[in-house]
Order: sequence, then C-alpha cells, then structure tokens
Amino acid sequence: MTDGRFTGKTAIVTGAGNGLGKASAERLSSEGASVVVVDIDGTAAEAVAAALPGPALAVQADVSDEEHVARYMDRAVAEFGRVDLYHLNAGIFGTFATLPDISRADFERVMNVNVTGQFLGLRAAFRQFHAQESGGNIALTASIASLTGSADLLPYVTSKHAVVGLVHAAAMYGGPLGIRVNGLAPGIVPTDLFAAAATTPGGANDMEQRASTTPLRRAGRAEEIAASVAFLLSNDSSYITGQVLPADGGASIVNTVRP
Ligand code: NAD
Repeated sequence: MTDGRFTGKTAIVTGAGNGLGKASAERLSSEGASVVVVDIDGTAAEAVAAALPGPALAVQADVSDEEHVARYMDRAVAEFGRVDLYHLNAGIFGTFATLPDISRADFERVMNVNVTGQFLGLRAAFRQFHAQESGGNIALTASIASLTGSADLLPYVTSKHAVVGLVHAAAMYGGPLGIRVNGLAPGIVPTDLFAAAATTPGGANDMEQRASTTPLRRAGRAEEIAASVAFLLSNDSSYITGQVLPADGGASIVNTVRP
C-alpha cells in the first residue's frame, strides 16, 4: 500500500455509502485524504464515514438535485476549507427491458442520476476550484457500458456513453487550467447494483458466468477498482487527462464475432 499520496488533500466521493464508492472512500482515506462521503442513503454514508481511518464527513445528498449538490459542497468546504479530489461515482442501472418496453420515466430517471448528476458534480467542482483559486483532479465512474452495448439496458448504456462526453469536454476545459478529468470504466464487480439486477426479471443474474468469459476469467473486486481511481486521482497519472480507463479484466477487448 502506498501511504500518503493524498495527505493534506480533501476528497469528495459520491455514492460512497456502498459498493465502488465506499471502496474508493476507504482507499483515499487510507492514503491520507480527508473524505466527504456523499450518498442518498444518509445512514450508509454515516456508517462509511465513521469507519474510515482518517478525517471524514458524511453528507446525505441526491446527486441529481442541484440544491443537494450545493449542500454537500458547502459542507465539505466548511469542514475542510477546500476540496482537491472528486470521485463522481453515484449511478443506477434502471430497469431491465428491451427497447419497445422502456418507459420514458425510466429513461429519464437513469439519465437524471447518471448524466445530470455527473454534470452537476463536475460544474460544482470547477466552480469550487475557481473559488479557491487552485485546481484539483476529477474522476468520473463510467462503465464497460460506456464502450459497449447491451440489449436490455439501453438507458444505462446511453447514460454511460454520455459520461465519456462529460469527461472529454471537461478535460478540454480543465487542461489549460491544470485540472485533469478522467473516467474509470469498471467491468463486472459484485456490488448491490448487481445484486439488485440479479433479482430483476431478465437482469444480469448470470454475472459470474459472464465474468468467467473475460480474459482474466473472473469478476473484479471493489478494491481493485478503487486502486485505479486512486491512480487517476494521484500525481502518478499526471500526464493523463480526458481518458476513460477500463478496469474490466479485459472484457472490453473481447471480440465475440471471432473469439
Ligand atoms: P451500488 O448500488 O453498490 O452503490 C451505489 C451507491 O450510490 C449506493 O450507496 C446508492 O445509495 C448511491 N446512490 C444511488 N443513487 C444516488 C443518488 N441519486 N445520489 C447519491 N447517491 C446515490 O453500485 P456500484 O456497483 O458501487 O456502482 C457505483 C458506480 O459504478 C455506478 O456509477 C455504476 O454505474 C458504476 N459501475 C458499476 C459496475 C459494477 O460492476 N458494480 C460496473 C460498471 C460501472
């Protein structure tokens, strides 16, 4: 474990009450960051923050609500004085359905959290960097679904492709200011997201089977994704911006036409 890469830095992690965000909060904290644990589930956020090894603050917030975003930012600055690192991670699957059966409400709900939520977080981050007159570093959770399709998850796939657009556009704006913006595209990692999918008719309940067909022949662990996030948020990736890094056991390189 590399200690201290984030000593003296403040990090905000959204969707940090569970799964990949929780692992990210733990990793950043273990390397010295003060961490603001943001989640729509306030109880989960409190539990994660209380267990972190370093300074931490839990904030209940819905990332798709502008006022909530302003609230977590205000609380972070009031507690720690400034914010350096953002892992904008909160996201939802939506309902499994094929195209004719997708409701407009479900499409908009997924876009609202996965795209509008990421936009609001990005905008708040840049506004805060300008206010504190020094930049930082941002990572957005994209997905293998940012790079590939899926017949029964169109809203999710569309939203995660849009996250790539956010990464590219924000990196273009941030680059001359010394602010890096990258995306992280996890493959299959058993979290509550997938547990919920497994109970959904037609959902991804063959997760282990699908993971076994990837080059590394297994699902990923949340800690492995968190390690890649830490890389992107650290100076170890100082010449990388505007990229979406797959952390997927090689899943995104598989040619299903000619295996
Ligand atoms: P998860 O369901 O385990 O955790 C997501 C967390 O986000 C939960 O604590 C939930 O309460 C919170 N959340 C949901 N909506 C929110 C909102 N509107 N505002 C604030 N918090 C909210 O899911 P996960 O697997 O950890 O997924 C995290 C991110 O990783 C998502 O963006 C997801 O799309 C992405 N992802 C996950 C996988 C995977 O295999 N698990 C693969 C690719 C991408």
